[in-house]
Amino acid sequence: MNRLRVLDAVREHGALTQVEIAGVTGLSAATVSNLVKELDAAGAVQLTPSIRNGRRAVQVSVAASHGLLAAVVFGDRDVRVALGTGGPEVLSQKRMPLPADHAADEGVTRGARLVHELVATSGHDMGEIRAVGIGLPAPIDTVSGQVGSEGILPGWRGVPVASDMAEALGTPVLLDNTANLAALGESKFGALQGVSTGIFIKASYGVGAGLIIGGELFRGSAGTAGEIGHVTIDEDGPICRCGNRGCLDTFVGAQAVLGALRDSHGALTLRDVIARARDGDPGCRRVLEDAGRHIGVAVAGVVNLLNPEVVALGGQVARVGDLVLDPMREAIERCAIPSAAASVDLRLGALRPEEADVLGALVLADQVREDADRAALATV
Ligand SMILES: [Zn+2]
Repeated sequence: MNRLRVLDAVREHGALTQVEIAGVTGLSAATVSNLVKELDAAGAVQLTPSIRNGRRAVQVSVAASHGLLAAVVFGDRDVRVALGTGGPEVLSQKRMPLPADHAADEGVTRGARLVHELVATSGHDMGEIRAVGIGLPAPIDTVSGQVGSEGILPGWRGVPVASDMAEALGTPVLLDNTANLAALGESKFGALQGVSTGIFIKASYGVGAGLIIGGELFRGSAGTAGEIGHVTIDEDGPICRCGNRGCLDTFVGAQAVLGALRDSHGALTLRDVIARARDGDPGCRRVLEDAGRHIGVAVAGVVNLLNPEVVALGGQVARVGDLVLDPMREAIERCAIPSAAASVDLRLGALRPEEADVLGALVLADQVREDADRAALATV
């Protein structure tokens, strides 16, 4: 237990001297000295000579030779893989397009192959990968490890993605949906850093949310917490692909946004709409403003329930900034109770959309590594 207290102290605070570790943990200097020797012998920490307050001191930090982490993040049309060490930087990354309506096994095969390629081209080998975090743009049942409903991935329902990927990669894996991963990324390195109660909204092809409660990602009883896209905002609204009527997604999902512009603008992609809105196209601006207002109505309900400090907007739609943020803020002020609305800070995510979920997947992989380290240390 004391070894873990020392390791947790340097994980949390970065490099510390033994005197500082004693201060943080409340352990005696002699005990810390013995524990650091044991951790060093186990290869869990590294010791670096330094000068503190004009005196020579040894700094203790988590060993860098602790192995690599990988991320595999699926979109509806692509898969991105990345390597990292658990910090805010990605060491290397690669992207590959996927055919529309591809089957899950094809996605798993391509994702795994891309990891092998990236590891090889980065001069590493698979043995160095300690854990892999995987993201899918669909609700994940954390009990079964399967895709809980189709989301925007029609061919993936009921597929045991986690165990298939673990087999294809030969490493431990953890799976989560990409809105949760982006929330994890923002919570560790971005707009929700240090925030105890926060909501991350991902608005791209669909809308999802990641809930941070007590500084931790809240997944609910089976992992599907945060499905804000299927919150009813109009009981008499159009039928949603989930079977309900008037879900937020039927108003602000890519289908709705592109559908609203089809008569006036022809066939566009979400990327086109965002680019044209930024160039001042009135129709494209209008449809995204309306989306911001609808998202704000749904977020107001969550603001009432959770009383968050911060709501951060990410995903492709966040690229238009205030155009979507301002109507969102107005709707929250109009629909949430005044005290909750007044205390919430609505802001843009600090990470790029394609960066947030990848960093979150690496954070997830880091949790697997940390658990393995704890288990190993407990038996040193
Ligand atoms: Zn729905």
